[in-house]
Amino acid sequence: MNQKNLENKLGEIRHLLSHLHGEVTALEQSYSQILLVLQRVEGVANTDDLTGLLRRRTFFKKWQNLLKECQRLGEDSGVLIIDIDFFKRINDTHGHPTGDEVIKRIALLLKQYESPTCFVSRLGGEEFAIAAHGSDAELLGMAEMIRRRAERLHGPVVGSDGKPLSNIEWKCTVSVGMASTRKSGSEATRLLKTADEALYDAKKKGRNQVSAA
Ligand code: GH3
Ligand code: MG
Ligand code: MG
Repeated sequence: MNQKNLENKLGEIRHLLSHLHGEVTALEQSYSQILLVLQRVEGVANTDDLTGLLRRRTFFKKWQNLLKECQRLGEDSGVLIIDIDFFKRINDTHGHPTGDEVIKRIALLLKQYESPTCFVSRLGGEEFAIAAHGSDAELLGMAEMIRRRAERLHGPVVGSDGKPLSNIEWKCTVSVGMASTRKSGSEATRLLKTADEALYDAKKKGRNQVSAA
């Protein structure tokens, strides 16, 4: 191959490489966009629409990892179930949109406790769960703080557009059931059942209180 041909070939290769570079860049951009969409879809699948909190199934997965991690570190942990008291009455008295507002405000309150070692879920309806590292005393302290802070929540009754309807305000209280790995072992289903029994006890004793298994 003479010099001229060689230069022509090199020119063609350079052209092909620059074309390829453009294709790779476009592919990378598409890949990033697909990743973003996937992350969004995953976010929607894992979190509850009304509150943005973890759905039950995702919560369970994360909680099982937390339990394993605690076992590995030899640390205590536990679970709280938080249930809004007489919530049906709130809906019946002030309407469903106000009920939704109360659920959102409780969710916001609980979100403040989220950390890498503590996460929150909306189990369903007006029932929430928190799984966290910590001793029985620490978990009970958190439960009592949540109960007291919920007691202080209030807001205007709202219409279906979310706008205040009048100067009537809603108030609410919550009951909390607690179960710890120290007392009930490290099996998530059993812990949740035990916390649920404690919650039932808190309801039976008059609501607006914390009960431990
Ligand atoms: P308790 O103190 O024993 O917990 O009584 P409660 O009235 O809070 O419990 P109950 O299980 O009788 O009623 C829960 C109600 O929550 C019934 C259901 O219609 C309502 N609910 C469930 N999900 C939602 C929701 O997303 N929004 C609203 N506004 N209401 C909901
Ligand atoms: Mg309730
Ligand atoms: Mg309930």
